[in-house]
Amino acid sequence: MKMELDITKDDLPLMANTSHMLVRHYVLDLNVDLKSHVIDGTIVLFFDTDSSCRKGDSEQVEEACHSQSDGTCCIQAPEACYVPVPNASACSTKSGCNDFAVCGKGENDTSDKNGSHGNKELASGISSSKNCCDIEIHGSEDFLLVLDCCDLSVLKVEEVDVAVVPGIDKFTSSAKLMDASKDPRDLRNQIVHELVTLPADHWKEQLQFYRLCSQAPACGELLFVTGTWSLEIRKAGVQLPKDFPHAIRIYYKTKPEGKSLSWTTDQCDRPCVYTAGSPINNRALFPCQEPPVAMSTWQATVRADACFVVLMSGENVAEPTESEEGVLNWFYYVTMPMPASTFTIAAGCWAEVKRKTCATDVQRNDGLFPLLSKADVRLLEQTCGHLPYPCRFQDPAATSQVVIPHRVFAPQCLKKSCEEVLLQLIPQCLSAAYDLLGTHPFPRLDVLIVPPNFSSLGMASPHIIFMSQSTLSGGSHLCGTRLCHEIAHAWFGLAIGARDWTEEWLSEGFATHLEDAFWSAAQQLSSDEAKEQQDLKAVLRWQRLRDEVQNSEGDLQVLRPKKENTGKASESGAAVIKHGLNAEKVFMQVHYLKGYFLLRSFAGKAGEAAYFAFLKKFVRAFHGQLILSQDFLHLLLSDIPQLKRYGLSVENIFQKWLDCTGIPKPLLEESQAWQDCRLAQQVNEELSPDQLVLLLECLLEKKTLCSKTLECLQKTYHLREQDAEVRHRWCELVIKHKYTAGYVDIEKFLKEDQAMGVYLYGELMVNEDAKQQEIARKSFATTRDQMDASSAKVVAEMLF
Ligand SMILES: [Zn+2]
Ligand SMILES: [Zn+2]
Repeated sequence: MKMELDITKDDLPLMANTSHMLVRHYVLDLNVDLKSHVIDGTIVLFFDTDSSCRKGDSEQVEEACHSQSDGTCCIQAPEACYVPVPNASACSTKSGCNDFAVCGKGENDTSDKNGSHGNKELASGISSSKNCCDIEIHGSEDFLLVLDCCDLSVLKVEEVDVAVVPGIDKFTSSAKLMDASKDPRDLRNQIVHELVTLPADHWKEQLQFYRLCSQAPACGELLFVTGTWSLEIRKAGVQLPKDFPHAIRIYYKTKPEGKSLSWTTDQCDRPCVYTAGSPINNRALFPCQEPPVAMSTWQATVRADACFVVLMSGENVAEPTESEEGVLNWFYYVTMPMPASTFTIAAGCWAEVKRKTCATDVQRNDGLFPLLSKADVRLLEQTCGHLPYPCRFQDPAATSQVVIPHRVFAPQCLKKSCEEVLLQLIPQCLSAAYDLLGTHPFPRLDVLIVPPNFSSLGMASPHIIFMSQSTLSGGSHLCGTRLCHEIAHAWFGLAIGARDWTEEWLSEGFATHLEDAFWSAAQQLSSDEAKEQQDLKAVLRWQRLRDEVQNSEGDLQVLRPKKENTGKASESGAAVIKHGLNAEKVFMQVHYLKGYFLLRSFAGKAGEAAYFAFLKKFVRAFHGQLILSQDFLHLLLSDIPQLKRYGLSVENIFQKWLDCTGIPKPLLEESQAWQDCRLAQQVNEELSPDQLVLLLECLLEKKTLCSKTLECLQKTYHLREQDAEVRHRWCELVIKHKYTAGYVDIEKFLKEDQAMGVYLYGELMVNEDAKQQEIARKSFATTRDQMDASSAKVVAEMLF
């Protein structure tokens, strides 16, 4: 009983039935009210039921296909893929298999029926998808569209009549809609299908029609019910996803207590709100399909009072327009499909931090176009593996852009430190990242200094990085390393996502490993310096890893907790994220650290140059897609065959690194090498007496030192056993700070080190402290007879 309660508390459910309908685009139209802490408005979701264009499932497809030993898959696949008549060309044959694989699950139950009816319609494939869905939603019940959603007040859900949008007839005429046009329901869904599958070079037109469609009138309300984790929508009498409205509008409001947003005040005490990077992601911001397979694009119009700046995951720099007096409209969009969880918004009274240097400097930075090498040109000629979208990897201007345009926003009171630290670092870190990984996946970047309640040092989202104010002080080291980490997420975590969220190491392990490489490059370190610095980091992370492994549950230490079931969801697409709501896990770094050490081990074995050349290749192959661990490991081992000489295989990497608790065995063996690194050794090395004297003299200049510090100092450097020069400085510190526990050291010194003790008598008297003066007099009384005459005379003058 107790066990069950724990599970519900700990695990994060993903309710959306993405296997039935897949959202392709969101249009948000929202008002942000910073007084009442509510965002309200509408969201229009555009769906597709044509699963054959889903790239994310390719792995499962292959498995399903291979399991068909008689090869029927390959013969039947094209038939099954015939469903989406107007757009068949957009589906690759490989993903076409997918359609079959999905339907194939119900094959045994239905083939008999199909066969006996001998229905000619079957050839079109329509019934095959019907059969498939029939099985999945249990006969005659209405189809339920399930969206992930929590803490939202849903006011109304309606079907959008996209057929009445002016100009939309171009889609209806281009489509072969002989039958569809007779039934308005089919016509509307066909229009949405045409719209979501427009070729990538029509993205502008697509965005515009998404907007127009989102504003079209309703053609009927839909029934809905909200639960703790979901919003369920149905239309009476509609039993199949393909007949369910493909464009729906939801009127809703967020709740102030919803966990997706943090309503707070900034460092200048002005109200603001931002997406907090919560484990529930954006579910308390808008109803969505949360599983990463639901990769979608979005556009959003957000209204806020004119004193606020609205920043968002959008590839455009929004130019605010005034909609009514005192209210500004901000419009952002993305054309690259990404999981809804990556959508980020922030609104507050932030100011842009600008460079003081002349504009030409900035332009030179932003528009640095090196000549393309032959290898680069060859790369450009390769096609991308993702769903079509206007991809930067195919655009010569984008692929040669060393530093992407970027802006920094901060509260007024932090502008100065942003200007001094952060703003200088961004171009250096961006160009270091470009040198190592190539094309920046996103065309621009905003960096925002978030309010003090932000619970981490940084967070990366498409086109926007949140940084904590804590990175701004104490020089550039923390700011630079953190910035590098977040920049690395543009490739690993955003452009290449984990298909299964439990494989967190695929983003965090990579970002942690790349952070070091980027930062070394940004500082233009020599390879020796870089190695030293990176080894020192390894020592620190090793300590942290050992500590966490000792103090956490074994379960939470496994990088691939679902093992061979990783990436698998239920038939409807719903899933559970193990430990997704575990509060302890939020503060754990095991996944970062073990992942980092695994990648570090690869780079060490392959050699940095070969490893990074491979990584570039990997990015070319997988950007815009979701991956599992094996996608990376297979390509790595085939691209750098020498790794196999170390006995590495996908299976033993799973076994020894990814599927085990505790510290991976190979890591235990490797750890010795960098633990002996020079920079780490230096810390443990004893200081020479002169170094100690220098240290103590530096400390003597401090106005205050508490007794705890003095005690640590004495114990750490064994000051009582040091030579007289060192002990003399120690006694001075004791006197200056009236450290009574050290008075015995003074008495001893005055007795045993008379050659140097005269000066200390003066110190003891100067403070006009009764106790110290007593020590002086007492010591002098016991030693004056042995003292040489002139010393005794000098001391006597000081004392009396
Ligand atoms: Zn691409
Ligand atoms: Zn990270």
